[in-house]
Amino acid sequence: MSKHAIHLPLIKRTKYRFQKLKMCKKCQCYSVLKGKNCPECGTVFKGVEGIAKAYVWKQLYSETLWILLFVCLGGIFAPTIGARYYTLITGVSFTLGYVILTFIFFKGESFYQLRKLIFTDILKIKTGIQHDSNQAREDIKENNVSAAYDKLLEIGELIYNDQLKIRTVIALNKIALRKDMNLELEHLLPSSYDKEFVKYALEVGKINRQLIKKSCIAYFIKYKMEIIHDFGVDTLMSIAGTALRMKLYIHEFSEFIQENIDYFPKERILRLCSIIHSHPEENWGGLAEITQQHVLIKYSYDPDFKPYIKGKLALELS
Ligand SMILES: [Zn+2]
Repeated sequence: MSKHAIHLPLIKRTKYRFQKLKMCKKCQCYSVLKGKNCPECGTVFKGVEGIAKAYVWKQLYSETLWILLFVCLGGIFAPTIGARYYTLITGVSFTLGYVILTFIFFKGESFYQLRKLIFTDILKIKTGIQHDSNQAREDIKENNVSAAYDKLLEIGELIYNDQLKIRTVIALNKIALRKDMNLELEHLLPSSYDKEFVKYALEVGKINRQLIKKSCIAYFIKYKMEIIHDFGVDTLMSIAGTALRMKLYIHEFSEFIQENIDYFPKERILRLCSIIHSHPEENWGGLAEITQQHVLIKYSYDPDFKPYIKGKLALELS
């Protein structure tokens, strides 16, 4: 099946992750998707931040009314005119103080109410996000990849679990990836082996090898048996060979390189020799020796390796 040629949507980021979350007050359901109206009842969604602020306003309004009511009652039942004045002045002063203090601490109180709302409705929020994620899955099934990816990006701004990562890579695997796209790899790493992720990583590796970083190489090495089973040893080596890209990675994955040096293509071995040769001050452990042996066995007559055979290796050759 041909892949979809689309422009990856840009995500509208919020300052805080919870600001993505909105609620239908009628159905009491949550969503993080772009739609303004609840798909169940059509009611306009309200952002959780706005709901928390509205609650504080409502609380201030009702409590102020209650205080004023008691002040009025106090004034009505005051035994003397003087007591009535005192009651009214004290009551109004207290009400004003209460309103001013609420304004001063409005931000803190709103945040407290927001936390309370999220904590109380955590199950509803999870259900809502799962519903959003299922909508993205349906879009993928219907080949509406752009819409699915857009939804998954929105959800990913709030939470990022394995299910979401895998659904995202399934969507991405249906898209014709290009170098100018804002591709991500490390954020999509699942916590266990996933064939779809490996397929995606291989595609990304072809487009931009720079995106295959330490954690991704570690993932390939960790699940090397599964990858060899599903994709073959050459595929594993093509990605894991990126461990030879940087000196830091060579140190980090030295053991893996030593174990698999026979599988690396010539240009990778040349790169390895070049790095080891350029940094004689580094402690390469057994890697330098194994590389020497490998070059001697496989490339001793190859002119490309001449600069690296001239040194220590030449001594061994003589
Ligand atoms: Zn609704």
